[in-house]
Amino acid sequence: MRRITASNGVVYYRSEMIPCMNGFSTRIGGVSQLTHTASLNLGMERGDPKETVFENLSRFGKALGFDAQDVISVSQIHSTSIRFVTLDHKGEGFFRPQGQSCDGYVTNQQGIVLGVRTADCVPILLYAPSNKTGFSGAVAAVHAGWRGTAGKIVCKAVDYLCELGADLNTICAAIGPAIGRCCYEVRKDFYDAFQSSVGSELTEKYVLPHSNKDNIWMADLQGVNEELLLRYGIKKDRIDLCQICTCCHPEEFYSHRHSHGMRGTMLSVISLSPSFHPFHLWE
Ligand SMILES: [Zn+2]
Repeated sequence: MRRITASNGVVYYRSEMIPCMNGFSTRIGGVSQLTHTASLNLGMERGDPKETVFENLSRFGKALGFDAQDVISVSQIHSTSIRFVTLDHKGEGFFRPQGQSCDGYVTNQQGIVLGVRTADCVPILLYAPSNKTGFSGAVAAVHAGWRGTAGKIVCKAVDYLCELGADLNTICAAIGPAIGRCCYEVRKDFYDAFQSSVGSELTEKYVLPHSNKDNIWMADLQGVNEELLLRYGIKKDRIDLCQICTCCHPEEFYSHRHSHGMRGTMLSVISLSPSFHPFHLWE
């Protein structure tokens, strides 16, 4: 994963493993003025005027090479629901009324940009290249909070790509910036729910007892998602893991935990459209 500063000031992370347009936004390079949303807030209901969010989306798009009008990013509900979307769904959530809420998207069409919003939860972008069976490629974007992680939404996205014709051995996954085990304290209800959905082995490996607080555990959601992908058959060298903790770096990322909920929102995007050169200069 590479940290890129675009010429318009937008800072984002890009997975070099994925050859098509993709990126994870930070909070740097936008026009939001509020203390908690400054400056690249990409969430519609965080206190910024609509026009401010649109301007931020347009700047993020200029930095990465996509058109703001092409993005779909609807209400997320901590589910494992994934929508198959086409060009007909462009703009939903930003410029057009949104259809069904969900926590992930998959498409096999160029020209639509899939967007998931996070501020500590794990954003995951998936890419499946074309193959000899006539499959012409597909991409997916997933929002995995603890409920989505426990529900294995990332595996559901892989299933969807395979149903469309992807070859499991060639799928790439980029796991973006999220709250790390250093900061993600969870309680017993989390531990129990997690154990009953992903099993004891994964839970004991990635949810460790706090060193000096009783009944508090530290959870590594990125680690669980990586391991779920590996167990599902994704190759280790095709997983790009960004291990930066959003809560440890509030100057660079919005963090729900760090800000006690008063925060802007980041957007992680992927499209099947080809990527332009990441050092292309804009404006
Ligand atoms: Zn941390």
